[in-house]
Amino acid sequence: MTAATRNPRVCVIGAGMAGIATAHTFVQAGFTDLVVLEKGSDVGGVWHWNRYPGLTCDVPSQIYQLSFALKPDWSQVCATGEEIQRYHRDVVDRLGLDKYIRLNSEVVAAEFTGGRWRVETRDGHVEEADFVVCATGVLHHPAVPNIPGLESFEGPVVHTARWDDSVATEGKRIAVIGTGSTGVQVVSALQPAARSIAHFVRSPQWVIWAPMTVRQPRLVSRVLAGAPLLRRAVYAVALQAANLFTDVVIRPSWRRKLVQAYARLSLRVLVRDRALREKLTPDYQPLCKRQVVSGTYYRTIVKPNAELVTEGVASVTPTGIRTDDGRERPVDVIVLATGFKAHNYMRPMDLRGKDGLSIDEAWADGPRAYQMTAIPGFPNLFTVLGPNSPTGSVPLQYSAELTAKYITHWLRRFRDDGVRTVEVTDAAAKHFNEGVAEALGPTVWNTGCNSWYFNQDGSVDLWPYDRKTMKAMLTAPDESDYEVTYESEEPSRRERARSASTE
Ligand code: NAP
Repeated sequence: MTAATRNPRVCVIGAGMAGIATAHTFVQAGFTDLVVLEKGSDVGGVWHWNRYPGLTCDVPSQIYQLSFALKPDWSQVCATGEEIQRYHRDVVDRLGLDKYIRLNSEVVAAEFTGGRWRVETRDGHVEEADFVVCATGVLHHPAVPNIPGLESFEGPVVHTARWDDSVATEGKRIAVIGTGSTGVQVVSALQPAARSIAHFVRSPQWVIWAPMTVRQPRLVSRVLAGAPLLRRAVYAVALQAANLFTDVVIRPSWRRKLVQAYARLSLRVLVRDRALREKLTPDYQPLCKRQVVSGTYYRTIVKPNAELVTEGVASVTPTGIRTDDGRERPVDVIVLATGFKAHNYMRPMDLRGKDGLSIDEAWADGPRAYQMTAIPGFPNLFTVLGPNSPTGSVPLQYSAELTAKYITHWLRRFRDDGVRTVEVTDAAAKHFNEGVAEALGPTVWNTGCNSWYFNQDGSVDLWPYDRKTMKAMLTAPDESDYEVTYESEEPSRRERARSASTE
């Protein structure tokens, strides 16, 4: 590479929401020497992989969207998974991002050698890049429980994150294991046509009632379609409203108590049978786990063909499920709504930074990053929605776009100032993570429940600050937190000018 062609080659891994936000941000900033490698056969990430019956986003659509592609005509207050997936495909097509994306390209290895990244896909394709950005998602790798006898089951076993449309559920005896946001949605969707549905619930969750499927009025869609400024204003108001939710989860207050009271009320009002209500009552505070929202579940579980099973799953037999009390329920189909290995991030890819340091070694005590995006030992590599991302507090699209803009700072420094490598220091990452650990103290996630939010060392893998703090941290990098090397020993003319101006 000559000094005249210092445009960085950038490789983004993943074309889900975060990858799309990143690619668009880079292109807008003029960084078009870009490739986005996507493992799936389409863009969309979780919305591509998850197609289970009943899939609906429980975050209102006016906020669950990219700020640069505001959709005026969402069909419902909370869109279905199918509509969100169509939206992502449409955004990619409309913004001309398709030409950067290589589908069916699973990255199996990435290594930092000789000042550049070498990225390899399963089909043997190799990309050389100056920067790698991992937008590989959080809820990506399905967690399949290790239940004795599961492999001996004679009927279909399907994980919700890999739904198989050929599996017949109508008129069948269905078992659903797991009661997170997914389990609750899939039980509600399958119950009406099932012969019977048994919901195996190891630990009940609080389910807040909300009218998620209310249609967005056509008139609203028409008005928003014709008024881009109004669309922006609605989005801005929705972002402000989301601040209220962030506040409720990160610090104790009467507002948190009010939401928790509403969760308790939802159960009390919708489930009149006292014995069933007791079985559905969690032994921890509402909001402690990722809050489940549903307009249908409590009405579904009381139906004559539905059964709540709170005895533990002991084993699976060829024809049914046996619980700890020795009882066996015959079933035709087993649905695993058992969640994800949420702390894998870009693993299992063989990711190696400086001096061959593997990501498994770097994350031996659990995934850690500086400000969700930079990892010591991994120069010129960033994550978007990496460790400590605000799944469940600040809107994820907002976080992804902000992080992508933050990264463009380094792309610019590479292009304009002769920067060769940039790597966050150990000290900065340690300082950031100590601050996070302290700030997690008063959050609701820390009030005595177990959830996928927890790392193996017992720390919570979430963002404990508000959106304003996120913006302050990620608007521009604090360069003193990074070790920067240059193409030539001698800093470029611009770099000298830059240093002089900050002195
Ligand atoms: P999850 O919240 O991790 O729930 C997994 C469920 O499976 C839990 O009830 C868990 O019980 C149970 N489970 C796991 N292993 C089990 C075993 N061996 N035996 C019995 N039960 C077992 O997973 P999820 O429901 O897929 O949701 C994950 C996240 O995806 C959500 O928190 C949310 O962030 C996101 N999501 C969002 C939406 C949306 O509408 N926006 C929809 C779906 C999912 P324990 O609690 O006892 O471990």
